[in-house]
Amino acid sequence: MKSRLCLIAMAVCCLCNSIVARNIDFDKLFTDSTLRIDYVLSGNVDYQNIAIDELSRMPGWYGKRQNLTEIPVHGAATIDMRLAATGELIYRHTFSTLFQEWLDLDDAKHAPKAFECVELLPMPRDSVIITVNLYNHRHQTTASISHTVNPSSTSIVHKGEGGNIAEYVVLNEPANKKKAINIAFVAEGYTNDQMLDYLNDCKKGMEGLFGYEPYKQLRDRFRIIAVVTPSRDSGPSIPSEGVWNSTAMGASFDTFGIPRYLTTLRIKQMHDAIAGTPYEHIIVMVNTNRYGGGGIYNTLNLLMTKHPLFIEVLVHEFGHSFAGLADEYAYQGEEPNDFPLDVEPWAPNITTLKDFSLKWLDLMPEKKTVILNTADSNLDTNTVALYEGAGCVLKGVYRPCPNCMMRTLKVPVFCPVCSRAIKDIINFYTN
Ligand SMILES: [Zn+2]
Repeated sequence: MKSRLCLIAMAVCCLCNSIVARNIDFDKLFTDSTLRIDYVLSGNVDYQNIAIDELSRMPGWYGKRQNLTEIPVHGAATIDMRLAATGELIYRHTFSTLFQEWLDLDDAKHAPKAFECVELLPMPRDSVIITVNLYNHRHQTTASISHTVNPSSTSIVHKGEGGNIAEYVVLNEPANKKKAINIAFVAEGYTNDQMLDYLNDCKKGMEGLFGYEPYKQLRDRFRIIAVVTPSRDSGPSIPSEGVWNSTAMGASFDTFGIPRYLTTLRIKQMHDAIAGTPYEHIIVMVNTNRYGGGGIYNTLNLLMTKHPLFIEVLVHEFGHSFAGLADEYAYQGEEPNDFPLDVEPWAPNITTLKDFSLKWLDLMPEKKTVILNTADSNLDTNTVALYEGAGCVLKGVYRPCPNCMMRTLKVPVFCPVCSRAIKDIINFYTN
């Protein structure tokens, strides 16, 4: 995604999945524990490869227990689990990766690189076949792997058991723990002496997020914890300033040479640090006042906690990392090819009009396609229609409203389309 070249960052979007929902009894097929699979994604623009690094088991399962074979947002990759004995699909999940973002850069035209990718799945009771597919911007499969996992194999490493779990504080309890969205705040660039400050930042961040609808009205669907993960050094690395710090998550500005792109390539290190805590989604709280951040759908969300726009960036990036929303802004001179104009992007909040019926037509006043111009002074800024310029592309990609949290941090609300998308995804996990 080239959104990193624009305001803040990244990731992703959506296209409804058409797999027919089946009633799968979670407890019959899965145990209450997590199968973590570490993959290595490698290659360049010419070829991509997926290889297995390590399998591990962690106590507790903190992802979905319903809608097991459905996905609410397509993402740039999918992972499927089928029973080895029958081939029946029993679990499906979707995500995007830093590797695929890198593939859009000029750098990817040269030597191949390898990226870490960690996926969390419910631990099956019986042997299963896992399939991972990576997709390009045209929704075509570019790399695939299928492999068998026998849950009783001794090669599955145990992690996060016994006393080997990082300390954490529960900040928000859900009404129903079996139907909750589990988010872990993780400290990055906070030393031991700065842990109280970190916990205060977590509380501020959480209350900030719950200040926005629809999170506010659905607050009791979330379990939010703050994991205590101290760093040796204070603050993340800033290579362009010669700052190289030793930190818990290895986060850095200047990712891919882009100054404000703050992220970490150390995905395994991040999951190792919080193994055994109740989490599915991760928000990395980075102790810096320098502007930056990044959000990758169902992978991670990083942001700076000491900048005046801390809360706004958290909420915006969480829109990417949790709900698969695309950026609704566009810049002159930047015409990334993330969204080929003859393909409908899968983000719920942008369209190329190639298959608009799946998007927000039903939210438009007269249920018909209307393209409006924001230069019209009579325009009601809440009118849901089609406004050109979104996904960093000025022409041919449309957004639903003149303004929205996914377009500018100055507007402290989500547009009706993003708001509905977030609500839908919360209900998908928890209703
Ligand atoms: Zn929006």
